[in-house]
Amino acid sequence: MKKVPYLIKKSLWVYHVNTGACNACDIEVVDALMPYHDVERFGIKLVPSPRQADALLVTGPVTRQAALRLRRVYEAVPEPKIVIAVGNCACTGGIWYDSYSILGGVDKVIPVDIYIPGCPPKPQAIIYGIAQALKLIPYRRPTKEIHVE
Ligand code: SF4
Repeated sequence: MKKVPYLIKKSLWVYHVNTGACNACDIEVVDALMPYHDVERFGIKLVPSPRQADALLVTGPVTRQAALRLRRVYEAVPEPKIVIAVGNCACTGGIWYDSYSILGGVDKVIPVDIYIPGCPPKPQAIIYGIAQALKLIPYRRPTKEIHVE
């Protein structure tokens, strides 16, 4: 975790993975990273390889075919790393949750730090989620026990 102050000061490089999305979430991710929103002013940049990334942006429910690939991509990202699930499908499996070919949300395969709901979420919501991720480094949100009476 010694690299964390360096990451916060310098930038957050993200690698985008589609594990079965309908592409609407992907279009919003691209929109969020375009010059109109100019996230590079915060040091947020899309990179072409998971080995260069600090964070994974994952869209779509996880299909059975994509699960192993997602796991391998996750393992290729150097520590410390964070995972951001973008869209209802990535958060929970969405409308495909009970499909025969879907395992569920991203957290069925790899640990998720930030959930950004929406179908699809707006670019502003995605940028907000990434900003939250920046604050979260090096902290992971603790799992809270929920008591329902
Ligand atoms: S959350 Fe909605 S827009 Fe995003 S991949 Fe799922 S169905 Fe498509």
